Amino acid sequence: MRTSHPIPENSIAFDHPITGPHQEPPTVSNATTYWRCRSCNRESIHKRDLYRASFHTSTCEVHGC
Ligand SMILES: [Zn+2]
Repeated sequence: MRTSHPIPENSIAFDHPITGPHQEPPTVSNATTYWRCRSCNRESIHKRDLYRASFHTSTCEVHGC
């Protein structure tokens, strides 16, 4: 029995255009890390926000999925 590169069925998460964590510039008070959707450019300090469709704009590719 040979198994060659099993393709995961649930690979939808990899399509999310989420980038991060990004570090805020040190000039910002209380600088922290944040996450950004590069499709609609919305940002949040909570990564889980990026996984909610309602977080994105209606034209964002994430929202359309
Ligand atoms: Zn988005």
